[in-house]
Amino acid sequence: MSSEICYAIDYGHGGLVDGAYQTAGKRYTFTDNDNYTVYEGVLNRIVASMVIHKLPPMVGGRRVRLFDVVAGVEISLEDGWAIDMLDGTGLYDPRRLCPYDISLEHRIAHANRAWREYRAPLISIHHNAAGNSSKGPSRAPRGVSIFTSKGQTASDDLAERMLDAFTEMESRGGLRVRPGDLSDGDRDHEAAFSMLTRTHGPAVLVEGGWFTSYEDMRLLGSPIGLDRSASAYVLGMTGADTARTFSCTTGAINTVPEFASADGF
Ligand SMILES: [Zn+2]
Repeated sequence: MSSEICYAIDYGHGGLVDGAYQTAGKRYTFTDNDNYTVYEGVLNRIVASMVIHKLPPMVGGRRVRLFDVVAGVEISLEDGWAIDMLDGTGLYDPRRLCPYDISLEHRIAHANRAWREYRAPLISIHHNAAGNSSKGPSRAPRGVSIFTSKGQTASDDLAERMLDAFTEMESRGGLRVRPGDLSDGDRDHEAAFSMLTRTHGPAVLVEGGWFTSYEDMRLLGSPIGLDRSASAYVLGMTGADTARTFSCTTGAINTVPEFASADGF
């Protein structure tokens, strides 16, 4: 076994460049909640940033290495990813991630290089949507789904660990895990499974909540929801428990989400 724990991380779609969202679609405006708008690519980057912030440089004497398949670079886990959020309740810096909508082909090539050279399995961070509309009322489907490619592969062990981790974090106030949804890709999701079928190493795609569910977005936009989601990734990837303690979870959950607006950061 390698003395290093290596992973490749994907945060699909685009982020914000000068306040402009880089991806067509992949957004939702809640017409029943003050037209609150979520951009999936921005949310993916916020969660990825928190995961990077939380990943320990060493776990059990093994060095942790992380490869960013969007930017195609290795991310140093020791060079100070954290910035304080204004209210001091969390730490992330999504501005440091690549804001552009890098093509699937490039991301797959980067993932395959990370597998070939470092034996780094792929974790792809996404959020789900009900329907194709970019606006409307909050929709019913909620919760976390974990996807692998069809059939029994090395990806399934990783997916099981991720599922266990998200289930643990659900018990500590995180997003619910959709029952029986350790899927082999046979559900009706966005057809982004090329990250699973065209990558050569183990690969898991996490739909970490639904950006068409205001309940999911309200929780994920709160300090505890974001902490639990990012902690689930870190726990599943490395076995390290990085969840924070919150003294007042009720208040945190009721915090207005701050990640969505185009001029938010
Ligand atoms: Zn997506």
